[in-house]
Amino acid sequence: MSIPTIDLFSDTKTRPSKPMLNAMIAAEMGDEQAGEDPTTIELQERVASLLGKEAALFVPSGTMCNQIAIAVQCQPGDEIIADKTAHIINFEAGGAAVIARAMIRPLEGLRGQFSLDQARDAIRAGFRHAPSSKMISVEQTANLGGGSIWPLDVLKSFQALSVEHNLVTHMDGARLLNAVVASGVSAADYAATVDTVWIDLSKGLGCPVGGVIAGSKGFIDQAWPWKQRLGGSMRQSGILAAAGLYALDHNVERLEVDHLNAKNLANRLAQIPGIKIDPMTVETNILIINVANLKVSASEISEQLLLNGVRIGAMGPDSMRAVTHLDVDEAGINRAADIFAKICS
Ligand SMILES: *Cc1c(COP(=O)(O)O)cnc(C)c1O
Repeated sequence: MSIPTIDLFSDTKTRPSKPMLNAMIAAEMGDEQAGEDPTTIELQERVASLLGKEAALFVPSGTMCNQIAIAVQCQPGDEIIADKTAHIINFEAGGAAVIARAMIRPLEGLRGQFSLDQARDAIRAGFRHAPSSKMISVEQTANLGGGSIWPLDVLKSFQALSVEHNLVTHMDGARLLNAVVASGVSAADYAATVDTVWIDLSKGLGCPVGGVIAGSKGFIDQAWPWKQRLGGSMRQSGILAAAGLYALDHNVERLEVDHLNAKNLANRLAQIPGIKIDPMTVETNILIINVANLKVSASEISEQLLLNGVRIGAMGPDSMRAVTHLDVDEAGINRAADIFAKICS
C-alpha cells in the first residue's frame, strides 16, 4: 500500500526522523532483561523524574503499560471505572478481562470525561454480591473525546474520592505531554493526582516504539514480573530508549505546533457548509469532525480524501477523526483543508 502524503489518521503514523535515527545508532546498549542497558535505565530515570514518581519502567507499548498497571493493582473480579470511550475498553482486545480478569464499568461521559458525581455513583457499596470497585482510570488527553484535557482540579477531586473509598487511580497518559504543553500544567502536577501513569513515545513524540510507566518503587517492583510474563522484557533496548531520550529533548515543546495546526484545520473545516466542528473544543492535536449534514457518509469522504493523498479516518457513519503530528506541516494542513472542501462541494 502506498502511504498517503498527508496522513492525519493518527499521531502513531510518525516515522523516526534522521536525527532521531542517528541518536538510536549512537546508543550505548546492554542486556535490558539483566538490567544492563544503560540507555534504557537513563530513559526510565528521566521519565520517573519528569512525572515526579519514584520509578519507571520501559515497555514495548502503551497498551502494555495499561495492562501492567491493571494487573498489578486489580484482583480478578475487581471493577475499574472508566469513560465508555476509553482505550482500555475499546482497543486492548479485552486485555483487562483476559490478563487481570478485572471488569470495566463504562461511564457515559462528555468528550471522554466523566464527572465526579458519576464516579461517586459508580463506586460499589461493598455489597457481597457485587464486584469490588478498585480503580478509577482517566485518559489524559481523552483520545475519542477529541483530545480534551482533564483539568487539574478535577483530577485532584478524583484523587480525593479514591482515597476516601480506598481505590487506586490510573492515568493513561498516551498524550499527557500534549496536555502539559497546551495547558502549562507540569507533567509532575498531573501525575501527582494518580498512583500510576505512563507516557507513550510512539504517538506525538515521534518514536517508533515504546511506552514508559511510572509509579511508586513498590509498584515498579511488581510491574517487572508482569513485563516478563507478557513478553515485554527486551535485550538491547537502548536503541529504542535512545529514540525516547531524543524525543524528550526535541519533540515535546514542538507539540505546540501540532496544536496550532489542529486549530487551524478546525477553523478551515468549520467554514465548509455541512460540516460541524467547534474550533473552541480543539484543545490539543485531535479533531472530531461531524459530517452528518453532508449527503455522503464519513467513510465515503475518507475514501475520496485518500484518492487525493489525504488520510482522515471515519468513526462511524457521521464522524471523522483527524490527528495532527510532527510529520504534517502547515502547508500539509492547508492542502488537506483545500482537498476536504473540494470533495464536499
Ligand atoms: C495509542 C493509545 C494507547 C496504546 O498505546 P500503544 O503504544 O499504541 O499500545 C493507549 N491509550 C490511548 C489513549 C492511546 O491513544
